[in-house]
Amino acid sequence: MLKVSNLKRAYGDFVAADSVSFSIAKGEIVGLLGHNGAGKTTVMKMLSGYLEPSAGQIVFEGKQLADHLKVLQQKIGYLPESLPVYPELSVAEYLDYAAELKGLRGRDKQQEVKRVVNATDIAAKLLAPIATLSRGYKQRVGVAQALLGKPSLLILDEPTNGLDPQQTLQMRELIRAIAKDATVILSTHIMQEVEALCDRVLMMRAGQLVLDEKLAELRTSRSLLLSSSLSADEVKQTLATITGVKAIDFLASSSAETHARIHLGEAGDVKAISAAIAKILLGSGADLYQLQAETRDLESLFREVNNNLPLQNNKEALDHAA
Ligand code: ATP
Repeated sequence: MLKVSNLKRAYGDFVAADSVSFSIAKGEIVGLLGHNGAGKTTVMKMLSGYLEPSAGQIVFEGKQLADHLKVLQQKIGYLPESLPVYPELSVAEYLDYAAELKGLRGRDKQQEVKRVVNATDIAAKLLAPIATLSRGYKQRVGVAQALLGKPSLLILDEPTNGLDPQQTLQMRELIRAIAKDATVILSTHIMQEVEALCDRVLMMRAGQLVLDEKLAELRTSRSLLLSSSLSADEVKQTLATITGVKAIDFLASSSAETHARIHLGEAGDVKAISAAIAKILLGSGADLYQLQAETRDLESLFREVNNNLPLQNNKEALDHAA
């Protein structure tokens, strides 16, 4: 539903986003992750049509965003990093105004405002001036205006920024509920946020996209932890015949028990290789105490990708962080 190709934005001589390309399918929840200044807001502003790219293309629902801006923007909901300030307006007045901007009028407008007020659970504060709202409520009002007109794509720039833990949980629940009917792209600088909500992560560093992976794939590493009654030598000999086993690190070994990390090659299904290992070990008469795929620590992956590794080298980053 969204295809971004070689997107670039420069502010004067400074390039805030460069060569950014990705596609998002309908119904996905995608997390745009990166440190402060990585270029997330710049990309989101371009996706929502509020900032013109210096180069590149954004195709939304088969049409160039730049060529059909007005029509396509009606199908895109955008929560900016900070809400435009209308402190003196009440929540109801602000939503009425935002609905007008989305082209809604009369009964349609009333019904739509009612719908988003219910969806974001802000009815209790409808008459309160925006200036008097807590940060969590303000964010919910921001999401409410983004939902007006039932957009098929929601772009949420740091939706939980500044919220307390309780408000953060409520906001995540709200985003999950919204994602049942719309495709969502949200930005954050916290990996946990992506883990809690997203199917997929796009990671930006210094204006470039350095990682684009499904969360499930990121979590799965190509190594197994093994514990068995065989000695280290016996483990080595027994597993020597299994295709897909690249190397074995012995973590602890005695005559009664061996703990090892088994590194698998790039090819081959991890489950099938695990099954083959279990079969051959048990077949040899050994006891198998543990055999499980190691999960990747996404926080350390985030640190590695952000701090140490060369750009455009996802594979190396992933292998390194495993
Ligand atoms: P944060 O997490 O802090 O919101 P971000 O990843 O959203 O950061 P951007 O706001 O996109 O990052 O900014 C990317 C870079 O572009 C930063 O170095 C920022 O200072 C710069 N930048 C953003 N807007 C402008 C502007 N209007 N003029 C000049 N530089 C800008």
